[in-house]
Amino acid sequence: LREQNARHIWHPMAHPAEMQANPPKIITGGKGTCVTDVDGTEVLDAVGGLWNVNLGYSSDPVKKAIAAQLDQLPYYSAFRGTSTAPAIELAHELADWFAPEGMVRSFFTSGGSDSVETALRLARQYWKVRGLGEKTKFLALKKGYHGTHFGGASANGNANFRRNYEPLMPGFFHMPAPYTYRNPFNETDPAALAKLIIQAFEDEIAFQGADTIAAVIMEPVLGAGGVMVPHESFMPAVRALCDRHDILLIADEVVTGFGRTGAWSGSRLWGVKPDMMCIAKAITSGYFPLGATLIGAKVAEAFEADKTSFGAIGHGYTYSAHPVGCAAALAALSETRRLDLAANARARGAELQAGLAKLKEKHEVVGDVRGIGLMGALELVSDRATKKAADKKMMAKAAEGAYAEGVMIRVSGSNIILSPPLILSADEVQIILGALDKAFAGL
Ligand code: PMP
Repeated sequence: LREQNARHIWHPMAHPAEMQANPPKIITGGKGTCVTDVDGTEVLDAVGGLWNVNLGYSSDPVKKAIAAQLDQLPYYSAFRGTSTAPAIELAHELADWFAPEGMVRSFFTSGGSDSVETALRLARQYWKVRGLGEKTKFLALKKGYHGTHFGGASANGNANFRRNYEPLMPGFFHMPAPYTYRNPFNETDPAALAKLIIQAFEDEIAFQGADTIAAVIMEPVLGAGGVMVPHESFMPAVRALCDRHDILLIADEVVTGFGRTGAWSGSRLWGVKPDMMCIAKAITSGYFPLGATLIGAKVAEAFEADKTSFGAIGHGYTYSAHPVGCAAALAALSETRRLDLAANARARGAELQAGLAKLKEKHEVVGDVRGIGLMGALELVSDRATKKAADKKMMAKAAEGAYAEGVMIRVSGSNIILSPPLILSADEVQIILGALDKAFAGL
């Protein structure tokens, strides 16, 4: 397997030569919060797949729902002219789940990047339907991550995901991230930084002209860019700014949806009603690829009342509302609610964040610690005073060290990202912290 993997698989987000030098773990099994590799080593998966396996690897209700749906109807799309019972039930469930955010309809997709692409397209189309077709531009955050399609990549705020694919789509502009450890203002107070970023938004909107801007797209808590938790005033202030200038707000909840932050959505965490939400990942807890763009009442009503020629949707996927994915999602969401995983994310998250703060006190290599609920990041530095970011070698050593101690972590740049399954126990929080402690001692 190792040899064939090296020869035939091109791994996303990795350099082929580096993958030869540092071969991937070949995962053969999963149980509860743990995965087993091809050598038979079992580790606690502190990555939770890729932020998605909230229920862990042994959810019988989800597995049974998938098997039953395969038996009943393995495939039909909710495309033009057809629909299926699981798709309808799931859309109903999502409208209920996200009623506090004002969502009324689901546009089903195959994953997070598709959900972002759909939201960006619908945002442009919305303004055409409203007779304001000049509103085409997007504002996003530096350090934001919105997937790999050209629209999402254009919204991404990390050079590593952009530079090899340029020119990206025109009309995307990036504001400073709510990142207190490093920012152009040298502002360490989150509330003050939030105000400065809002001012930067105002300046950019004045410069571009509000009549040219379709939407702001943002993660309520930035994930892949390094888990940046903004001040509680930030997202409400972005909402107010959008209202002032007649701009749509798209919340990319691909990571923050379904309890990871301790709230059922990142928007709800901050008390915000976006105009559209992008969801994927934990919607099926990773058991099947599925996503959705959720549409708020204002956008839905404009399309429903459309008298122009602009309202027809020229966008969709073969696997829009795959019935097996929808059945998996219905079971996963029912389990997520039954187990109240948001409450567990709050309780275990508080223990995790407290432990991470102690690791920062103890280990010089930990420059910054961030997180909320069961999403966390440790930023490693080779020099605390200058904040010099840890290099690839050091990060790889940290990951290997943690793995040797029985915990899988994820490295992204100089950040260690933690997003364990939301079924995590208090003991397992301590296992993660203990493994990191030992790994850092070895650096
Ligand atoms: N948006 C956010 C916030 C994400 O974190 C991700 C994936 N990490 C995506 C979009 C893209 O999702 P996918 O990988 O399922 O296409």
